[in-house]
Amino acid sequence: MAKRCGRCGVPLEGIVYKFVVSTIFGIRPSEKDPKVCNKCEGAQARGIIKGKEIGKIEHYYGHLSVGIIELSAALKVGDKIHIKGHTSDFKQDIVSMQLDHQNVSEGKSGDLVGVKVSQKVHPGDKVYKI
Ligand SMILES: [Zn+2]
Repeated sequence: MAKRCGRCGVPLEGIVYKFVVSTIFGIRPSEKDPKVCNKCEGAQARGIIKGKEIGKIEHYYGHLSVGIIELSAALKVGDKIHIKGHTSDFKQDIVSMQLDHQNVSEGKSGDLVGVKVSQKVHPGDKVYKI
């Protein structure tokens, strides 16, 4: 049985690897972690997060269950986010958003928006749009 990438299952040796995978797709065994291919190596380093990082938690108002997100990309009401930090790791929908104490339907890069969060968050937690 030919060796395969432990993450995506692509063959890493044998005839399919030699003539298809490596030649056409440029896939090789990872130098850092030979159990996976070079395409999955970065994905492993990034962890299991899917989605795009769109900001980070700047502050948390526990009595309001509101997290302040410093946005590095656009975010709007209805988007689904994943908040991840050392002790935070959950997904939720954006049900409301505030900017300068006004309800808004979207925020853009550079904005500090307040969003209702379903769990406790911490400054520095990363926010991903999924
Ligand atoms: Zn792979």
